[in-house]
Amino acid sequence: MDEVSSEQAPEVSPIERQYKLLEDSVRATRREEDVEALRRAFAFAEQHHSGQKRVSGEPYLIHPLEVANILASMNMDIITIQTGLLHDVVEDTGVTVEEIRKLFGEDVARCVDGVTKLAKLKFYSREERQAESVRKMLLAMVDDIRVVIVKLADRLHNMRTLDALPPERQQRIAQETLEIYAPIAHRLGMGKIRGELEDLSFKYLEPEAFAELTVAIESKRLANEEFLVEIRRAVEQKLGRENIPARVEGRVKRTYSVYQKLKRQKISIDQVYDLLALRIITDSVRNCYGALGIIHNEWHPIPGRIKDFIAIPRPNLYQSLHTSVIGPGGVSFEVQIRTDEMHRIAEEGIAAHWKYKEGKKGAARDEQQIAWLRQLVEWQKEMHDPGEFMSTLKVDLYPEEAYCFTPKGKVIVLPRDASPIDFAYAIHSDVGNCCVGAKVNGRIVPLKYNLKNGDVVEILTQKEHLPSKDWLGFVKTSRARNKIKHVINTTERAKAIEIGEKYLEKEARRFGVSLKRITRADLEAVAADYGFAKIEDLHAALGYGRFSARQVLLKLLPESAAALEKEEAEKSAPAPAAYPQQQPGGTADASDLVIKVKGIDDLLVYRAKCCNPIRGEAIVGYVTRGKGIAVHSTNCSNVQNLMYEIERKIDVEWARAATESFPVKMVVYTDDRPGMLNQLTSVLFSENANIRTFEAQSDSSRNGEGAIINMTLDIKDKKQLERVTAATRRVSGVRDVERVQ
Ligand code: MN
Repeated sequence: MDEVSSEQAPEVSPIERQYKLLEDSVRATRREEDVEALRRAFAFAEQHHSGQKRVSGEPYLIHPLEVANILASMNMDIITIQTGLLHDVVEDTGVTVEEIRKLFGEDVARCVDGVTKLAKLKFYSREERQAESVRKMLLAMVDDIRVVIVKLADRLHNMRTLDALPPERQQRIAQETLEIYAPIAHRLGMGKIRGELEDLSFKYLEPEAFAELTVAIESKRLANEEFLVEIRRAVEQKLGRENIPARVEGRVKRTYSVYQKLKRQKISIDQVYDLLALRIITDSVRNCYGALGIIHNEWHPIPGRIKDFIAIPRPNLYQSLHTSVIGPGGVSFEVQIRTDEMHRIAEEGIAAHWKYKEGKKGAARDEQQIAWLRQLVEWQKEMHDPGEFMSTLKVDLYPEEAYCFTPKGKVIVLPRDASPIDFAYAIHSDVGNCCVGAKVNGRIVPLKYNLKNGDVVEILTQKEHLPSKDWLGFVKTSRARNKIKHVINTTERAKAIEIGEKYLEKEARRFGVSLKRITRADLEAVAADYGFAKIEDLHAALGYGRFSARQVLLKLLPESAAALEKEEAEKSAPAPAAYPQQQPGGTADASDLVIKVKGIDDLLVYRAKCCNPIRGEAIVGYVTRGKGIAVHSTNCSNVQNLMYEIERKIDVEWARAATESFPVKMVVYTDDRPGMLNQLTSVLFSENANIRTFEAQSDSSRNGEGAIINMTLDIKDKKQLERVTAATRRVSGVRDVERVQ
């Protein structure tokens, strides 16, 4: 501005000046409706940030405005620039994402929401910040890569204005930038932003080294300026003679990258070959190689320093030819050769693919995404080592992993759709075993819940709790699966051992044999006989019902064999049971047919006499002392008493496809009238209920006017029982029917 106009013009605030810059740059390349969209976003940000100040004292609005300017200078689309202007309104003012959606549409709302979510992430430990998984997680968390681009621009402006903050915050932010954001910019191929982020971080983290190196590099540059000008002129001339159109630039290596090289290779600044370089930007790949030939023809190349990143791009898609040559006077320098397109990608990376395309507005985004993918696939084919950038992008484009957090911010990486149980086991097997519930983002969820990227998961535990077999149905990690199986097997085996031991004792007592007469050595011998190394194994096998206690006793005490055999003969002689054994000591196989313990193939099971449950009724198992597992109906009154020893409870279910029937005792109260018994038996017959016993007597309490019929029926299941009961009730003269428990 000259003196005259500065006197006359009203004072222009930095905000007005920077907004004008932004609007001009949008107007220069875009249509009027984009300028209109820009104005609306700016007005909205201005309204909602009004009165807010940055730590520096400037109006807060300057920050989103500068972020938008950075994005505009990268030639990003209007959605991205609007997001830049609005990126802090949800975080810092009362505005909701809903409002943004209403006013600015779905894309802007999604991007603002994404930036807001990223702002909430905290990376506590150094390990966490440095972990590649954090960077992958950040990329995976956003479904629109423009969110990351806005976040990088946001961080860049914060780094440029870091001076205003107190030293501790400078350190923390610079560290985070160097360890998280610069590597992300690198992975996305955004060389320009990465370079600036690194140098700014370096400046705050190691101010002395930074200052020293900056001076050294600058003096090197000045000392070689004449040399570079001379070389540049020579190159331009030679390229012109060969009709290779080219832009030739001098380039100085970035401070932080020189620093890393010095540290890594333990060399001095004089030994950095590529500190000074020429960059040749031409129009085609063919001319790149042509230029390389011209350079090598003129100056002698240093062996081993020719790199062809055109044929083999770097994992972040960087392409260029590099060579170092010995120039006039024996001074070496580097030459980088690339096309305009390659240069753009080297500087802007993935952002190069989001450039606004005039006249293709509607489908632009999809089209660019498809083009980007197609390019990736093509490049991947040519690459010998696809490298981590590819796996990073895979996470981005096909998220197979869910990045979740503990309430303290630790990152837990799980397969997609993993459950809170997987999360709990990933923390520690004790946490997994004791898991009784989970909160995701502060709300209680079922243990089957499918975890998503960014979920904050809190595991609720209870001491001594054991994993449930059902968990195996939905856990996704092999770690959780193996731990659950291990605990279940151990618990079941412990139960089986206990059952087996008691079963043997009880059976011995029943036959009048004292177990005291049996030594450990005897037991060990019998165990060995069965092929077991330990007595425990023998007990477990008994508990699982693999063979009967009697068989074991016969082996242990052959002299008692006669008594046992006799007993056996008496027991099996009268009317062989057509229904499963209920007596204690009954063999395992008979009842195995009817009920099975969930998840266990062979455990000694019998139906409790007190409630005599039948197929179809809800049942529960209870590990008895010595008799195996008693199965009760869940509404049996004894269950309530038994269950105070909750650890003895065990899940049981009716075995499938069995045809047994169960004896059920019933009592029928009727009027005493002729034909009653006939009618009743024919009803039972029509319901296929086999009558086992049937006994009628007159009801003394009703002065001989009524009758009581006690009967035992063979009933297949609960449904049949209900049908029989209903049919019996319908017989005229029947007053009541009851099942006897
Ligand atoms: Mn911000």
